[in-house]
Parts: sequence; C-alpha cells; structure tokens
Amino acid sequence: MRVSLVLFTRDLRVHDNPALRAAADDADRVIPLFVVDSRIVASGYPGGNRAAFLARCLADLDAGLRALGGRLVVRTGDPVRWVRTLVDEHAIRDVHLSDDVSGHAQRRLARLRAELDEAGARVHAHTETITAVAPARLSPSGGQDHFAVFTPYLRRWLETPLRSVLAPPDTVRLPGGLSPGALPGPEAFSSAEATAGTLDGGERAARTALAAWAAGPVDDYAEGHDDLAGDRTSHLSPHLHLGTLSAVEVLHRVGSRTPGAREFTRQLAWRDFHHQVLAARPACARQDYRPRGDRWRDAPAELRAWQEGRTGFPIVDAGMRQLLRQGWMHNRARLITASFLTKTLYLDWRAGARHYLRHLLDGDIANNQLNWQWVAGTGTDSRPNRVLNPLRQAERYDPDGAYVRRHLPELGEITGPEVHRPWTLSETVRSRLDYPEPMVDLAGARERFLAARR
Ligand SMILES: Cc1cc2nc3c(=O)[nH]c(=O)nc-3n(C[C@H](O)[C@H](O)[C@H](O)COP(=O)(O)OP(=O)(O)OC[C@H]3O[C@@H](n4cnc5c(N)ncnc54)[C@H](O)[C@@H]3O)c2cc1C
Repeated sequence: MRVSLVLFTRDLRVHDNPALRAAADDADRVIPLFVVDSRIVASGYPGGNRAAFLARCLADLDAGLRALGGRLVVRTGDPVRWVRTLVDEHAIRDVHLSDDVSGHAQRRLARLRAELDEAGARVHAHTETITAVAPARLSPSGGQDHFAVFTPYLRRWLETPLRSVLAPPDTVRLPGGLSPGALPGPEAFSSAEATAGTLDGGERAARTALAAWAAGPVDDYAEGHDDLAGDRTSHLSPHLHLGTLSAVEVLHRVGSRTPGAREFTRQLAWRDFHHQVLAARPACARQDYRPRGDRWRDAPAELRAWQEGRTGFPIVDAGMRQLLRQGWMHNRARLITASFLTKTLYLDWRAGARHYLRHLLDGDIANNQLNWQWVAGTGTDSRPNRVLNPLRQAERYDPDGAYVRRHLPELGEITGPEVHRPWTLSETVRSRLDYPEPMVDLAGARERFLAARR
C-alpha cells in the first residue's frame, strides 16, 4: 500500500487543488494534514474574527474530505516536524503542498526539503494553487527577478494562459490506525473573542458566494467598485486568502465578457503582482521596498485613536469601525484610512499593517504589506507623495453619507453629506453627539508630510 501526504496551508479546499489531486493520484492512501503552527499562534497576530473564520474553514474542509471518504488530520506544533514524523511512521515517499511566497513559507519549504531529503522522501511544491499565475512564470525582459511596475506585469499576465480547473479527487482514504485528531476551534488560534456579523467561512460558503457573484453582480463591477455605501465588490478576498476558492477557478468562472468582468480580472492581477514582488523580496514584509528616508512620528495616542475609529474624521472612523466589527473593510476605505495614518498623521505603515493583519479576514502578507507600502509611497506606486484628502474622498465615494451612518451609529441622526463634517453643525447638535473633534488640521498635516519627503 502506498501512502502520500498533502500538507494544507492556505489552500483549504477539495476543488481545484493541485496538491491534493496529486497526492490522491499518487497513492492508495492519503494523509490530508493541517498543522496548527505554534509559531504563527505565538506571534499573536490573529484576532478573534480571523480565528473563528479559520476554524470554520477547517471544519468545512474536514466535511469536504469526509464526503470523499477521508478526514482532515490535525496536529499542533511545528509543521516540518509533524510531516517528518508521519513520513517515518507511514513510509511515505511523496509529500505535496502549495507553493507560497512569504518568508515564513519559503523557509518552511526549505526546511521541509532538507528534512525529507534525509528521510528519502520527495517534496512537491505545487504552483498556481495560491496565485493564478506562478511568480516564476513571468519575468521582465530586462532580466530582473520580478516586475516592479504593475502595467507591464498586467500586459504579460493577460497574455498568459490559465491552467485548467481540476475536479476534486474521487476518493481520499486515510491509512489504517491513524488518529485524525480533534478539529481546532477558534481558541486554538487566538484568545480574543469574535464579533458577530462576519462573513461565513469554508469552501461551501465560498463556492456559493462565487456562483452568486459570477451570475450577475460582477458585470456592474466597473461602475460599482468604488461605491462605499453600495458595497458592490465581490467580498471574495477572505476565501481567496485561505484558499477556500482558487484564483484560477474564480477567473475561469467570471470570464472576460463584460467591462465589469475585465475590471474584476485586473484586480486579481494585482493580487498576483503583489505575490510575485514578495516572492522575490520577502523582506518587504517589514522593510521599505523603496526607502524614502522617512523618520516616522512616534505618537501612540494618535495611533490608538486611528485604530479605535476616533479620529474625528467620519469617513476614516467608519472604515476603522467596519474593520473591528466585520473583519473586513471596503477597498476605498482601506485607501483612505491607510493614507490618513501614513501621510496625514505621518505614522509608520508597519503599525497600520500590523493592526489590519490582526483584524482582516483576508489579511495576508503579500497583499496587505505591499498595499500598505503602495499607499505609504515606499512601495510600487509611481506617485509616492500623493495624499488623499479624506473630505474630498468622502464627498466623491460616499456622497450621501450612508456608509458613515452605517458604521458610526453616534452620527446616525445627521442626514445627508453634512455627516462628513460634524464640526460644522450647531453647538446644540454637537453637544448631543458622542463624537470627537478632528484630531488634526488637514492642510498643516499635508505640509508636514510633503516637507518630510522633500
Ligand atoms: C492598505 C491596504 C491593505 C490591504 N490589505 C489586503 C489584504 O491583507 N488582503 C487582501 O486580499 N487585500 C488587501 N487589500 C486589497 C483590497 O483592498 C482587497 O483585496 C479588497 O478590498 C477585498 O474586497 P473584495 O474581495 O470585495 O475585492 P474585489 O474588489 O471584489 O476584488 C477581487 C479580488 O481581487 C483582489 N484584489 C482587489 N484589490 C486588490 C489590491 N489592491 N491588491 C491585491 N489584490 C487585490 C482580491 O483578492 C479581491 O478579493 C488591501 C488594500 C489596501 C489599500
């Protein structure tokens, strides 16, 4: 009897999963393993909502594997040590996993290779499982190791044929005598509580969401994606982050018939773009991609006001409260809140990125850190010193103020766009509101930032 092993990481699905398919094609018995990585848990970054979402995805993956005759095998500790133990116990020759780009993932793969080499087993790192197009498949004509600018990358990415979508394996059967271990609950990942009202996790919920999105709303994406109150984006990012959906399958399903579908496809190219930057420059998770000589201010009380959504600028505070409550934030609000932190307050992007990573269900190193760097002007943006004015952004993308009223109940009684400038309301109205004065003068803050960058 031949046994293979697939190590799940952030590819928590049975559909279109090249690592799982190869493991099942390879052998009569498969160990589908997930390891609660003690190092990630000890880093303390998953918040309550993320932990609950991940636990839900694992329970659903287990259900998907049971339907194929198997179970999810769960262990806690160091994934490399656990793989080695199981390889030795079951005389495994082939171990499959998805290739990933972060420094942590690259180091894990290198350690796995070294460890299994010693055990006489092979490691197969499957590409185009997490991204649609593998980072190494596209390289710039100038001989650089990655694309530093999005537009030429996009051109090449659009010309690259997608691999086909894979069906789930017919069966996944465990070797005898192997205890699957208990499925982890949210407490295995974080001691923080989840809030109500977050997205449902797991492959079944993800596939339902994709089917609904592809059936119509995507066609409206080109006009609708910046409408804060309308919330007309796909909300697929948490599913893509944990791999309950494959990016390849999303692209096949959505196609390119309409301007909406083409604009949406372009967003998925941004996702691959950031992954290929991080694959080549894993240190960019912490270091400036393009250093600008910044000497960021140190102002813990200001950072706290931003984190809690108490800056006195309703459009900023609405985004930050949405994040805390739902574990998600609209992309336009991410741009506004990140620009406010890094340019208006001139605080370090790393502090903002850390807060987002703790709370975002979709928070991942490639998209989060590199979007933060893009906004901070230390990344790949060709206009690094642009500063978003939160009031102009509010007027343009939340013209009636509905987004702000939805997320800031204390301003719920203020009708129309006046909600964006509560400081202009009468003294009587203001005294009734439990809402702070603006924490900064926007014009002065802009000058401070531009002077620092000169
Ligand atoms: C400061 C900042 C931090 C961010 N952090 C993350 C993060 O941790 N994880 C994350 O997935 N996205 C991140 N984004 C990108 C973007 O905001 C989210 O992907 C998007 O809001 C998710 O909502 P959606 O699924 O409805 O997106 P849609 O608008 O429906 O887009 C479809 C998909 O395209 C991808 N995508 C869209 N915009 C981007 C982008 N700018 N960069 C990379 N991929 C993109 C996502 O996978 C998304 O699900 C960040 C953006 C900013 C400005």
